[in-house]
Amino acid sequence: MPKTVGILGGGQLARMMAIAGLPLGLRFRVADPSADACASQVAPLVQASYLDLDTLARFAESVDVLTFDFENVPAETAHFLSAYVPVFPSPKALAMAQDRLEEKRLFRQLGMDTPDFATVDSRADLDTAIDAVGLPSVLKTRRLGYDGKGQSRLRTREDADTAWNDLGGVPLILERFIPFDREVSIIGVRNRTGAFAAYPLTQNWHRDGVLAASLSPAPLAEGVEGPALTFAKRLAEEVEYVGVFALELFVHEGRLLANEMAPRVHNSGHWTIEGAHTSQFENHLRAILGLPLGSTVARGTSAMLNWVGALPVWEPLLAEPLSHWHDYGKSAREGRKVGHATITGPPTGVVEALRHISAALNRPEQIDPVLRAMGL
Ligand code: AMP
Repeated sequence: MPKTVGILGGGQLARMMAIAGLPLGLRFRVADPSADACASQVAPLVQASYLDLDTLARFAESVDVLTFDFENVPAETAHFLSAYVPVFPSPKALAMAQDRLEEKRLFRQLGMDTPDFATVDSRADLDTAIDAVGLPSVLKTRRLGYDGKGQSRLRTREDADTAWNDLGGVPLILERFIPFDREVSIIGVRNRTGAFAAYPLTQNWHRDGVLAASLSPAPLAEGVEGPALTFAKRLAEEVEYVGVFALELFVHEGRLLANEMAPRVHNSGHWTIEGAHTSQFENHLRAILGLPLGSTVARGTSAMLNWVGALPVWEPLLAEPLSHWHDYGKSAREGRKVGHATITGPPTGVVEALRHISAALNRPEQIDPVLRAMGL
């Protein structure tokens, strides 16, 4: 019998996971609160709130293994469902990664540097935290944040009231703002028998807290990639992680500081679909099904460009050599990730394609930083 993978969350990550699993003979079912979640175009969808335990229990009984496209599924729901079907990553690992405070404490405990931080549960705590952490800093919700949501920058003490009014009332964390030189991520994967692999380091650029572009293998990775990899492996082993995860890091004055861990396939790993021997999506499936992992070696240089808000008019660019275009089948909405393109090949070819795409779509602010990182 073919195996059926259940995915909680039916966005583009579930969609790309299902597309990656079809050649392996896998079947997919997704559960999502929204009836038109884009993965429903490639797999049957059960519409359910993440708190609707009766419906989700029946969903869990209909699949062989359960995983996530959405990291903010309540850990209690994941724990409840683990009585019905194997759930990976484990509800315990999910809970750790859902709380920025727990996560940073664990990073430090495992010997990894992080931006200085302090917990904030009241307006008075915020003043104490500013004394301890310093300015500028960033106030963040401990839970339910992603893509820069639930964050407020503090440049001076006068910003404290505004930040508190924006975010106060839920558990918070104040972090020192790091004027980083670069942002990088490592995509790691660990399977059910404990085998570990990681993709080459990826450099990332964000706009308004949302990923705009990635480049892998990251240039100038010497001295940074080794420690990032060692730490990613230590972290995965510590929480007995099963599946793909991303570790986001800042490079500041030659030092690595861990920002956060995402317990799922990750936007900064989309380049692996065409740019690595095995994609992050296929390796996630292999990991949770207890199969051997595939090679994480890159096929060349890859640049990934995210389309946020609306897709550009890209039809004329479909013939662009080395380029691969992804439309997630979502309607346009401000701030929403609706697709991406990956350009994979030898560096000279990638540069030529990036220049052409930048000019055709008038996207210098998105693409120039990537070209500069490639030494141009
Ligand atoms: P996060 O949701 O924590 O990944 O934050 C989204 C983006 O905001 C990061 O990728 C950074 O570009 C920026 N950011 C978050 N925290 C900090 C920090 N402590 N210092 C500097 N930039 C930050």
